[in-house]
Order: sequence, then C-alpha cells, then structure tokens
Amino acid sequence: MEEQITVLVVDDEKVIRDGCTLLLQPEGYRVITGANGREALNLLRDEPVNVVLCDLKMPVMGALEVLEEAGGLYPEVPIIIITGHGTVADAVECMKKGAYDFVTKPFRVDHLTLAVKRALEKQRLERETRRLQEEQAKNLYTLAMEQSRMHTIVNCMADGVLVTNRNLEVVLCNPTFMQLLGLSGPLPQPGPLSAYLNERTFGEAIEDLCATAETEPSKCLSQEICQGRVHLRAISAPFFGPDEKMLGTVTVFHDITAFKDLDAMKNDFVHMVSHELRSPMTAIKLQHEVILDGLAGEVTPKQRELLSRAQAKIQGLLELINDSLDIARIEAGHRQLELLPLELGEVLQEVIHLLEAKAADQKVTLKLEAPPDLPPVKGDRRSLDEVFVNLVSNAINYSPDGGEVAVTALSHGEYVEVRVSDKGIGIDPEEIPKIFDKFYRVKDPKARQIIGTGLGLAIVRGIIDAHRGSVEVESRLGEGSTFRVLLPC
Ligand code: ADP
Repeated sequence: MEEQITVLVVDDEKVIRDGCTLLLQPEGYRVITGANGREALNLLRDEPVNVVLCDLKMPVMGALEVLEEAGGLYPEVPIIIITGHGTVADAVECMKKGAYDFVTKPFRVDHLTLAVKRALEKQRLERETRRLQEEQAKNLYTLAMEQSRMHTIVNCMADGVLVTNRNLEVVLCNPTFMQLLGLSGPLPQPGPLSAYLNERTFGEAIEDLCATAETEPSKCLSQEICQGRVHLRAISAPFFGPDEKMLGTVTVFHDITAFKDLDAMKNDFVHMVSHELRSPMTAIKLQHEVILDGLAGEVTPKQRELLSRAQAKIQGLLELINDSLDIARIEAGHRQLELLPLELGEVLQEVIHLLEAKAADQKVTLKLEAPPDLPPVKGDRRSLDEVFVNLVSNAINYSPDGGEVAVTALSHGEYVEVRVSDKGIGIDPEEIPKIFDKFYRVKDPKARQIIGTGLGLAIVRGIIDAHRGSVEVESRLGEGSTFRVLLPC
C-alpha cells in the first residue's frame, strides 16, 4: 500500500491553515498544522513529514529560524515559504537559506498544489539520486572486493596462469608463471606472447582457440611444454564476455617435472631389468631348441611336450621384454626414426607374407588390397613393419577359426590410409579408449587363451604419433574391428 503524503502547514493565521487544509486534503494529502516555527519543529520531530508550507513571519519563531534548524536536521524535507506581497525580498532571502520555493498570499489553488507537487517531485528525485549513488558506491565496492579477491587467488596459485586477449597479447600472468618460465619482470602488458613464452606449438594452439572459439566455445587444449629442465602441462581455454563474445584465452601451467623425472627413472629401471633378463632368456630358449632338435640325446614324447610348453612361455616372456624395451625407447624419445619415402604396398605385402603361416595355423585368410599407384609415405621402415605386424597379428588372434582379415590401403591426397579389418570378437565401446594404454588387455572370456602383453597397441600409437599420423578404431562387439592408420605422404 502506498504511504500517504503528509504536508505540514505552519501559519499563525488560522484561516490560512484551514484554507490550506481544505485545498490539499481533496488532493489526497494528509495535512497537519502548526501555529509557529516552534510547533513546526516539534511536529517535524514527532511525525513523518514530506513537505512543509511555512509562513514567513510568525510570532515565537519565523520561517528563517525554522529553515536554519530544520535544514540541518531534516535536509530531505522541502520547505515552501508562504509570504505576503511586501515581503518577497525576505522570501528570496529564505530561498538562499535553503527554502525550496515560495508562494505569495493570497495564493491561487493551482499555485499552491503545483508548488507542493514540485517539491514532492524534487524530493523523489533527490531520494532516487541518493539511492543510485549508494547503489553505485556499493557496486564499486563489490567490484573492488571481487578484483582484489581474484588478484589474490591468481597471485597465490601454485600453478602458473597466463591470460591473453583476442589479439594474442598477454594481458595478465601470475608470479608462479614468471617463476616457472624463469622470467624476471616487468614485461609489457598487453605484450606479445613471444616475449613471455616463445614456443611455436603453444602460440599455434592459442591462435587456434581464438579462431574457433565462437564455433567451439567449450574447446580446451592440453599440451606439454618443455622449457630447459622444466616440464609443464598447459591447459588452455577461451573465455567470453556477457554478450558471449570471445574476449581471449586463459592457460593454466602445471609443473610436471617431478612426474617426468619419475617416469624417466621408471623407464630406465624397466630398460635395465629387461636387458638383464633378455640374454639369459635367449640362452635358455636356444638350449631348449638344442634339446628339442635331439642334439643332446633322445627326447621322449612326454619330455618334448613339457619342453615345448616351456618354450612357448619363454617366447611370451621374450616378447614382453622386447615390447617393454620398445615402449621405453619410444617414450623416452630414444627411438631414432629414419623417415624416408616408403612404398606402403611393399611393406604391407611383406607383413602379410610374414604372418601367412600364423594365419594358416589359426585357419584365418589374409587379404591385401593396395593400389599400385599408392603415393609413398614418409616413414621409418622398421617401425612401420612393427605397426602393421602388431595390427595384423591382433586381427588374426582375435578372429575365430575360418575368419578373414582384410588389409586395405587407400590414397587421400596428402595422406595414405591403411585399414586392418577383421570379423572377430570385436571390442566393447567402453573399452576402446583404454586399449591403447600400456599393459591394458580387455577381459573378454573369448580372448582368455590369447597370449599377449597389452603393449602392442601402445607401441603402434607411439610410432604413429612420431610419424605425425593417427590411428583409430571402429568396432562392434561380436562383429569385428577395423583399425585405421593415417600416414602423411
Ligand atoms: P595384446 O598383446 O593383448 O594383444 P594390444 O595392445 O595389442 O595387446 O591390444 C590391447 C587389447 O586390445 C587386447 O588385449 C585386446 O583386448 C584388444 N584388441 C586389440 N586388437 C583387437 C582386435 N583386432 N579385435 C579385438 N580386440 C582387439
């Protein structure tokens, strides 16, 4: 409910007080009256008053004193002076002392109501201005608090933070970033990205994020950056303004040097152990072969069976050792690739040839389709042999008796695609993201008897990545799988 507006009429003449009451009440105002300035001040103290109509000259206390006292105590309440013709100069004096307006006696109805309305409007506008000022001050305070909080959080973070605008200029970075990168300030802000981090792939990633932000707003790029001894994981994402316009990018740098060192130690350890195991294992295998070939005397069927089983286990262990050494070399970047133009058709032909006996053993047919005009790819012969031996061996291993494995090569301009397809047991969609992990093997009862290390696909991915190619798989459980390898020409 709207509060009723109260007008205080102060005049020593009762007729004026009554007249004003009669004129203002029908306009919806509540009217209270006082006969002199003292009474007016008492009423102002006790009642909520919106406007005061005050006679200039009154016994006990006149308008000038009311203005003086009320101006200090109730600055929000506009005071309109009622004055006779001869005292206009005094009324002007009152205006100088803070009166809002004056009406001269005898006044017309519309003059009086207009003066009251204008005073109320002024009061309303003043209140609104004050409210807006207070709100603005509050907002500025909240903003300053928020800025200070953000500043503190960013500056105290254990991870490095780097923010760029949409022109790829650095507009903010925190002390951890400076420390991780070994930078000593001050650097220009906004300043070129290269002054902060001169890493081509990082610059390209930020550029890519800016270029695609509007179409892919939730895109997030993760990459490893090596700066001398320091290894960093950089995760970058675009950020947007309230109008959803891209404003720039933010990157968080996490120091992974300790993990990298541990990984290198683990690789060295695996390498050392594998090396130490390989020679005695090979010797045991050779000695078994000598016995199995009958060179150490006659072998009974029972002995032959036991030795053959041991031989298969040793072969499995040797494969594990070789695969472990391989993956350790790839991960440490120690595997030197000799990238030369390669006829993939020839490579695939040889792989098929090598695995024909194995396929025949498992009653699987191998098919190769490679056009003669396939453009050469840039590749390392020994490594690509290993890739396709792994993929085709898997396809044979995970096919049922009587199955069929097809190897197809196709040209796509700048890339050659090789598909290795089988109609075997297939892979559960949930397992697909994990099968390229080291030592991961799907726990499928149908594959229980298949011997493997879980390293083959990790080696495949490592080699293909080093060739700047890609490998992916499409599969349906129970229907078969297709591994697709793309290699640049
Ligand atoms: P493994 O030595 O076990 O074959 P890989 O790294 O080569 O190791 O493969 C990892 C896992 O991926 C395998 O254990 C198997 O479960 C699954 N896999 C790989 N190739 C195929 C395929 N052609 N069909 C079905 N499953 C496959």
